[in-house]
Amino acid sequence: MEAPRRDGGRVRELAGGQAPYAAILGCADSRVPPEILFDEGLGDLFTVRVAGNVASPEEIASLEYAVGVLGSKVILVLGHTSCGAVTAAVEGKAVPGQISALFQHITPAVPAGADIQTAVEANARHQTKILTTSSPVIREAIEAGTVEVRPAVYSLESGEVTLLG
Ligand SMILES: [Zn+2]
Repeated sequence: MEAPRRDGGRVRELAGGQAPYAAILGCADSRVPPEILFDEGLGDLFTVRVAGNVASPEEIASLEYAVGVLGSKVILVLGHTSCGAVTAAVEGKAVPGQISALFQHITPAVPAGADIQTAVEANARHQTKILTTSSPVIREAIEAGTVEVRPAVYSLESGEVTLLG
């Protein structure tokens, strides 16, 4: 870990604008902040985080801004092992407040009887598919070859990110 591009010079450099090379749709889990996982600095990553890394309309809108306005070249849909949101959606138990609002975005992704690791991977793939099929902005950028959208899973145990096929 080198913690690059986080000094005052970088702050001043970015004051007039941003051009993050990648966008991340990641989970809100405190153990998976993309800027730290990938050892990047200010202005490098356009990070959208929500429990279960779901591609609901507000997340799609944010990622459309990254791709269509800021010119990000990659969207990484980053799930992680032992994800609490995926686990809760799979188990389907009662949860407080509005937490269950997330489930509608996750349960369609998960095969019946899947274990949590399989469900996490299926969810990352599903959210990737939602992004690439429901957003004209992102779909057109893929067709033009200006952006690539890939699912991946971060291991809480090893600290490694594995791209999914
Ligand atoms: Zn999670």
